[in-house]
Amino acid sequence: MTIQAIGVCLIAVSLLCIPASAKTGSTIFTPERVANARRNIERYDWAKKIRDDAVAAADRYANQPDEWLWNLPTPQSIPRGIHVNRQMGCPKCGHAIDKFGNYPWKVDVFGRPWKITCPSCGEVFPKNDFAKFYESGKDANGVFHYDKADRSLLYNREHPDPADPLHTYCVDDTMGYRDAKGDVYRFVGYYGHYGAWTETYRAISNLGNAYVYTGDAKYARKAGVLLYRIAQIYPDMDYSFWSAKGFENSDGGSGLGRIYGRIWESGLVDSFNNAYDAIYPGLDDAELLASVSKLAGKSVTAADVRSLYETNVIRQVHDGILARTIEGNEGMYQNCMATAAIVLDDPGTTDEWLDWVFADGDARHGALTGGNMVSIFRGSVDDDGFGSEASPGYNSIWRSLFSSVSDLLALYPRYTKHQLVNNAKLHRMFEAPVRLTCLDRFSPHIGDTGAAGSPGLASIRASDLAYAYRAFGDPKFAQMAYMLNGNKADGLKLGIFDPEPEGVAKEIEAVVKERGPYVLKTDNMSSYGCALLRSGKGSDARALSLYYGRNTGHGHKDTLNIELFAHGLDLMPDLGYPEFAFSDCASRYEWTENTISHNTVVVDRKPQQSQRLGVARFVREGDGVSAAEVYAGKPYPQTSLYQRTIAMIDTSEKDSYIVDIFRVKGGEHHMYSLHGPEGDVETEGLNLVEQPKGTLAGEDVEPYADLGFMKHRDDVTGYQYLYDVRRDAKPSAQASVTYKVVDTWHCLKEPQDIRLRMTLVSPPGEVILAHGDPPRNKPGNPRNLWYILSPHESNDSTFVTVVEPYVGSPLISKIERKDDGDAVTLTITTASGRVDTIVSALEPIKKTVAGLEFAGRFGVISQGNDGTQKKLTAE
Ligand SMILES: [Zn+2]
Ligand SMILES: [Zn+2]
Repeated sequence: MTIQAIGVCLIAVSLLCIPASAKTGSTIFTPERVANARRNIERYDWAKKIRDDAVAAADRYANQPDEWLWNLPTPQSIPRGIHVNRQMGCPKCGHAIDKFGNYPWKVDVFGRPWKITCPSCGEVFPKNDFAKFYESGKDANGVFHYDKADRSLLYNREHPDPADPLHTYCVDDTMGYRDAKGDVYRFVGYYGHYGAWTETYRAISNLGNAYVYTGDAKYARKAGVLLYRIAQIYPDMDYSFWSAKGFENSDGGSGLGRIYGRIWESGLVDSFNNAYDAIYPGLDDAELLASVSKLAGKSVTAADVRSLYETNVIRQVHDGILARTIEGNEGMYQNCMATAAIVLDDPGTTDEWLDWVFADGDARHGALTGGNMVSIFRGSVDDDGFGSEASPGYNSIWRSLFSSVSDLLALYPRYTKHQLVNNAKLHRMFEAPVRLTCLDRFSPHIGDTGAAGSPGLASIRASDLAYAYRAFGDPKFAQMAYMLNGNKADGLKLGIFDPEPEGVAKEIEAVVKERGPYVLKTDNMSSYGCALLRSGKGSDARALSLYYGRNTGHGHKDTLNIELFAHGLDLMPDLGYPEFAFSDCASRYEWTENTISHNTVVVDRKPQQSQRLGVARFVREGDGVSAAEVYAGKPYPQTSLYQRTIAMIDTSEKDSYIVDIFRVKGGEHHMYSLHGPEGDVETEGLNLVEQPKGTLAGEDVEPYADLGFMKHRDDVTGYQYLYDVRRDAKPSAQASVTYKVVDTWHCLKEPQDIRLRMTLVSPPGEVILAHGDPPRNKPGNPRNLWYILSPHESNDSTFVTVVEPYVGSPLISKIERKDDGDAVTLTITTASGRVDTIVSALEPIKKTVAGLEFAGRFGVISQGNDGTQKKLTAE
């Protein structure tokens, strides 16, 4: 246990000069919208369910005495931390807790106040009676002071004898328990975050919603008590104090925040401000004011509640954004400022704050003159409609928050200087994630997105598109909503506050009848940086993505990564979200985000350098063939060529095979890395010799060994993450690895014997197989995947691979490769006897192929029963 004095200033409530409230009514939950919601609840079962769920959730809090709610939020003197100990896990079961996710501890403010329980071993911490210690430190205002608290309570209740060696085991006085080795476990901090404040957030959101849906004064009363208490505490909240003491929160590494780290703080205070607006009509309630007066120890009027809340929370939110203690990803702090402005509804101030949202500036980098919304749409949102994040998941935060700002402005017609509803790039932000859809239920796992091979669209739902159709009027969104809704309009609807939420389904039906469905085809998002080859329909759909966009931020060092979707599964899955998105998380930098864990080429054993965008030479759909060629220079500046050419070639309506040609010129060592899905592998043309122990980094280097990455993070190989190493120094000219595919995420209705055969065609040297792990703390992730590695000690490589996903028997019976200088010609005989010739050259060439004149840099020519055909040509 550490004993440190905490200097915190507490409750400055009555010392502040408090201006009167100008607000006269709800501006977000306007009477008209509330009436819509209540009418919808009477008309529709789904709306009733929303109300019933909100009421059930709110009743958990509403059934507590007012005093309980008053005491739920904790003051600055109680830390807020999101990890007990990331490095060590649980004091009792260690890393066994990791499989329960990033924030695994169980918290129950109702049944087990001030305790947290390990979901793995069931042990309860801290071992002292912190509740009693907390009570002993409270002043007349109910605020805990560390110095005032009774230190004689700081012992392990299971071992009361001071001579017992476990007497101080896992005792936490707020600063965490420090063991003999110096490892600190922060139980009270975790409770302060996930107990005290996360429950306050839930309570206030649910009580506000229940009041809007029912009009029952009891919910406004309970929420009013809570908001008044939050307003008393909020000005003192300063997360940086706790960050400096080693607590971790969602602060993006800044150490700044208020209750939470500054990123999650924006969502937290939005929930407070929304609840304030929701219960605003209920604040004059005599019972509420009597209760608040009693708890506060003085007479409190409705005007007092309003002015205290507006001064101590809403105006503090404005100041916090300018002080950068409330921030977050793009969209978060702008939405937070717009919400504060519109809820405050004080004409002069509200206009000034809304002006700030749109004014130029870059608050995230210290230019506090504005929220930059005009410039962001001009510069940061690309022409495809993605913001400056690699991960589609993080981009969806931009989309949902920018559209929230758009909706807020629409709710506040008094302000006319800016709007977003006609912004073409906002419209494209709804289109972009739809364009990434593969097989109706996947999108490529680009950057920190999802788990290894997990299903899920790029954070877009049919209802988002129904909203876009209603908000922007573009029929394309009706077609997209229809597609994402399972090719039907049935069940599509708008939100509970809409006057006619179900009317949109008929409108969408009519649009699709007139214009036909939206069909996803081979596509190139040249501004975001992703080519998508597509073929087949329904359960036979196939898709192959080739990513060449930004590899920074929440991106991975994954330029030219490919991901294959077929037979209803992600067959070459990206590893997805790392174990922890922290800068000191070794497995994140060395492995999950590193180049080697991706389906791409590592040059000179180092991660790729940062890049924004590669160049697509072509992305084309031909006759039963789609192909793309993309190059990128920045990831490896020592290379003069870093280029991938891919083709998806149909063998039937149901099946396609993939040709992959990866060329690298420059550098001294090239390592082609490829992996399939979960499953055992069988090999052909390989005579593998097992390395008895260790990893690719060496026989003496254990998996996950600490090789000092914090000092050399730009040149980590990641080799120590590849174990069960086996090698063939002299593979045959066609070395195949066939995966017996496991349906990790239970995507298939019926089990199917799916295989994925990867054939390295004339590998330039050794072929290595090794196991690598997807993040270990994401429930559902496969334990490990087989990696295929083809290293080449050379400044010039052309790696050629043919990939066949199939059920039953393979698609291909024979492959021949012929190189003529830099030009590669592959002759592939399919199982049905068709002969496909694939020509790929660095510059356009002319030659006779299968009796036809061919001119171009890439082409596919087929000879089959119906003669010889050029299926695709690219110049
Ligand atoms: Zn445990
Ligand atoms: Zn990745």
